[in-house]
Amino acid sequence: MEEEDSEPERKVLFTSRQIEGTVRKLAEKLKQDYQGRCPLFVSVLKGSFMFLADLVRFVELPVELDFIRVSSYGQSTLSGGKVRVVHGLSLPVAGREVVVIEDIVDTGYTTAFVIDYLRKRKPASLKLCVLTSKPTRRILPVNIDYLGFTAPDKFLVGYGLDYAEKFRNLPDICTIEE
Ligand code: 5GP
Ligand code: MG
Repeated sequence: MEEEDSEPERKVLFTSRQIEGTVRKLAEKLKQDYQGRCPLFVSVLKGSFMFLADLVRFVELPVELDFIRVSSYGQSTLSGGKVRVVHGLSLPVAGREVVVIEDIVDTGYTTAFVIDYLRKRKPASLKLCVLTSKPTRRILPVNIDYLGFTAPDKFLVGYGLDYAEKFRNLPDICTIEE
């Protein structure tokens, strides 16, 4: 019998419970820091969709949302360092208190690009909220204001993160062996 494409092996790194606890803490910090204000959360698609969805439900602030989609890795897990906007913002950023919501900072190319892109549009303030960071992989420096987890140099899937578009819907964050 012919073998089907074998799935890469997955190991749970952060459970859905751990993620919820961490996202609640980030939301609490954001709530304190933005009390009485109306920040604009800019979610970097697609990976941050689940993080954003949970974060905004916990944050108890009158946030506004926008989305930006940039291309970086494509279908592969190798970073090219070349980033471009695939889908731009729909709301003006000038004068707004902007918080960028990212799934993961790896080499830093994507986030550095997004931060630069937004800064050129003259927000009143610009902060970065990241669920996971892989600091050992960093090539471009990125200043993370709100960080959930520090992760090892492994490829992560789940809770929004994909491997060739699969596994985004896993409730845990897992590592896979490629
Ligand atoms: P960077 O530009 O920092 O190297 O990578 C940024 C983007 O690459 C992230 O926003 C994410 O979409 C993708 N990426 C980086 N590391 C991982 C990973 O471990 N798993 C997944 N699924 N995507 C990653
Ligand atoms: Mg991302």
